[in-house]
Amino acid sequence: MFPSTIAGSLPKPSWLAEPNKLWPQWRLQGDDLAAAKLDATLLAIKLQEDAGIDIVGDGEQSRQHFVHGFLEFVDGIDFAHKVEMGIRGDRYKAMVPVVNGGLKLKGRVHQLEARHARAHTKRQLKITLPGPMTISDTVADAHYGDKIKMAMAFAGLLNQEARALEADGVDVIQFDEPAFNVFIDEVGGWGIDALHLAIDGLKCTTAVHICYGYGIKANIDWKNSLGAEWTQYEKIFPALAKSRIGQVSLECINSRVPLKLLSLLDGKDILVGVIDVANDTIETPEQVAGVIGDVMKFVPKERIVASTNCGMAPMRADIAQAKLVALGAGSKLAREKYA
Ligand code: ZN
Repeated sequence: MFPSTIAGSLPKPSWLAEPNKLWPQWRLQGDDLAAAKLDATLLAIKLQEDAGIDIVGDGEQSRQHFVHGFLEFVDGIDFAHKVEMGIRGDRYKAMVPVVNGGLKLKGRVHQLEARHARAHTKRQLKITLPGPMTISDTVADAHYGDKIKMAMAFAGLLNQEARALEADGVDVIQFDEPAFNVFIDEVGGWGIDALHLAIDGLKCTTAVHICYGYGIKANIDWKNSLGAEWTQYEKIFPALAKSRIGQVSLECINSRVPLKLLSLLDGKDILVGVIDVANDTIETPEQVAGVIGDVMKFVPKERIVASTNCGMAPMRADIAQAKLVALGAGSKLAREKYA
């Protein structure tokens, strides 16, 4: 009852990459960098295990950014001539690479860290991948001429990597789709179709993470413009409920998502965000258990998984570690109170 997990990323050690940045520079190169990424992966697993996290992840220690960590391994993308583009519905401008040819994987994307993590933990293992809609919103297209066609091409590559991750022994594969929350009308149209292509043939648990973004300024300003209740999810939850995705991950604590909307996700496991990644205050176990208790009014308790609101990559390492401990302790307390 109430197993715990993380949305995905954890801060990187300062010997691996610049701390407190969403786009950190690596501290090492070549073979040294490759070895250091695996060492950091092991450390991330150990910290989660010690905090009592049940479904552990690699902490995304091997990727510079959650989308570009995948794109680096894709042929048909020009990283040398990036262009400025408004992304997430023009919420912010970013320099993005350009798709200039047919997309193809260069090889395995997350094999090294997935196998290393698998070899060193007996707990369930989760690996995250960016979702096809979010990838398509983070690159410029000079080849396909059609956003949906390009997204489906990315979904095919994601499926190739996801099947290989499953064969590596990964238990949960999660797709991060913050763009679902921006292109609301397109989710039911083609967003779910693209996800279905990405999970095609998988037997392991599948998840999608949706959210209102990390705790960076552009996101905080946007959230402040959304009013007292965030009801965007109301339009996409029915489509997600009908999908073949097993789990839905989203923010709850300190968010203005009305919890009653969770009842629209009937039949799905819910990864309930009980840890805020946008502030440095460490949650208490009582607070964590309290959110789980609130969610139980709308979601059957056997479908609740305790998680973080979003990735923790840009946080201070000591704060993220304390929050992991609160997550583990809070889920345990919820088991004692409600199981
Ligand atoms: Zn998120």
